[in-house]
Amino acid sequence: MRTIDSDKLDQLPGIRLKSRDIFKFRCHAELGCFNRCCRNLNLFLYPYDVLRLKNALGISSDELLDHHVDVVLRDSNHFPDVLLRMADNDEKTCPFLAPSGCSVYPHRPDTCRTFPVEHGVRYDDDAGKTHPVYFFRPPDFCAGQFESREWTVDSWANDQDAVEYNRFTTGWSEIKWLFRNDPWGAEGPGGAKGKMAFMATYNIDRFREFVLGSSFLARYRVKSKILKKMRADEREMLKFGFDWVKFFLWGIKSKKFNLR
Ligand code: SF4
Ligand code: SF4
Repeated sequence: MRTIDSDKLDQLPGIRLKSRDIFKFRCHAELGCFNRCCRNLNLFLYPYDVLRLKNALGISSDELLDHHVDVVLRDSNHFPDVLLRMADNDEKTCPFLAPSGCSVYPHRPDTCRTFPVEHGVRYDDDAGKTHPVYFFRPPDFCAGQFESREWTVDSWANDQDAVEYNRFTTGWSEIKWLFRNDPWGAEGPGGAKGKMAFMATYNIDRFREFVLGSSFLARYRVKSKILKKMRADEREMLKFGFDWVKFFLWGIKSKKFNLR
């Protein structure tokens, strides 16, 4: 999922899909390209991807972030990108690639799930609205695009169990859009505020400790219904993390909490 400037929309690669447009695709093990796409990737991981993967692997957020990702801050960005670290072999295969296919298939990241469709979000600052945009862009070697099974973006998202992933990633892209301007001031993205924002979005285990085990609840009044949900469900904790980062960095108020 990428954030897209309206004036760059026509310059992007791939075929633009409107919501009712049909594309053809079917991926299966009999194709000669089977598993070829799962190597040498710049595979961006979004906060919900990290949450799901660490649970799938039975490890902590810290372990996932320490051993499976590269955190990269590009020159023109104000928040780092998180990329899945490919295996250290000649083909740079995905670490989760097994001979029979994806070993974390039920928990595969959003980008893998929506492939060969790429989702983006276009922001209309004047109207204050966001618009989803979709591109069909399989690589040339992908034989699945020549199969006859037909889809729309919605039927594909449903089939791939991608709806919840897409929702989280859209929420995250709204925050990334806010990061187009530098919120850090002199301390930069590596300062204390930057570390807090990264924790609240990418390290759900630490953020949970921070919210429930520190003086956080003495400083913030969190609605009891929300707090109950957050204690029971990491997805609610992550949604809260998104809201908290918006408040903490940009003063955007949330209905879930306020300062005491
Ligand atoms: S290249 Fe395309 S058809 Fe082949 S395995 Fe990957 S997604 Fe499936
Ligand atoms: S996570 Fe699974 S689907 Fe995605 S690149 Fe790795 S092996 Fe392929």
